[in-house]
Amino acid sequence: MKSGFVAVAGRPNVGKSTLVNALAGQKVAIVSDKPQTTRHRIFGIANAPEQQLVLVDMPGFQRPLDPMTERMQRTVDQSFSDVDAVLFVLSARERIGAGDRFIAQRVFDLGVPVVIALNKVDRLKPGHIATQMATASQLGAFHALHPVSAKTGDGIGELRSELFELLPDGPAYFPTDQRTNLPLELELAELIREKAIQLTRDELPHAIGVEIDEIGDKVVRASLYVETDSQKQIVVGRGGTLVREIGTRARPELELRLGHPVYLDLHVKVRDRWRRDESMLERLGL
Ligand code: GDP
Repeated sequence: MKSGFVAVAGRPNVGKSTLVNALAGQKVAIVSDKPQTTRHRIFGIANAPEQQLVLVDMPGFQRPLDPMTERMQRTVDQSFSDVDAVLFVLSARERIGAGDRFIAQRVFDLGVPVVIALNKVDRLKPGHIATQMATASQLGAFHALHPVSAKTGDGIGELRSELFELLPDGPAYFPTDQRTNLPLELELAELIREKAIQLTRDELPHAIGVEIDEIGDKVVRASLYVETDSQKQIVVGRGGTLVREIGTRARPELELRLGHPVYLDLHVKVRDRWRRDESMLERLGL
């Protein structure tokens, strides 16, 4: 059996979560178009006969500004210390620039093979892709460079094979039918948080925390935490329309995960400065 850990690095919004999902063949990481919404050290697990690839999905690098960011940063450093390879994700749709080079400095210093995925090549002209590949290849001594689209699945099979080839001999770290190591409660909370983020805007993503209060046979109860009354008004929406929509979108995914129908009972609560409250962060698994 071959198995190993691969850290997924890259600027926010380049498509890391989407790529992890594509490689694992199932939705495991939170996906949104807002930068820096990945908070957990989420494993995506890609299984093949006699092979298991554990993907460590990391938050973007950033300067620590508050306890939450600091925790995220620590997670990044921990994730890096013991991996067999790095999957360095770039976006072909944007200029490859200072942010990418900052991360490149760290990943190429690790002494493990770096596989570059040039993501989002869907609907780009071949000439443009070639130019971006040339720029990407100057970031460091990479092991392989794959143009891919996490969205359409283009190039994902080849990328997965490339990563599998880098794995050393090892055991199956997780049951081979398991695709994430998040506790059920955090998994459900992430699904709800994803919908809340998709339906709100601007500063709100960071201000929303989701806690699962109860997972019953017929009902799942969850609290959506925000920091101010005005944020609460936004999340609740006029006459409760927005929080209802969050529930409507999240429920089918919760049911899929739980394997049975549930009623989703959502409550929006104001908890002043919850992001600075260590015990609160602990409870939300952040
Ligand atoms: P992360 O912050 O790096 O984890 O990025 P996400 O996976 O959350 O993706 C950020 C945005 O890019 C989302 O809106 C995705 O739908 C989009 N995206 C991801 N992969 C692709 C891709 O291959 N092609 C296109 N066109 N968009 C993508």
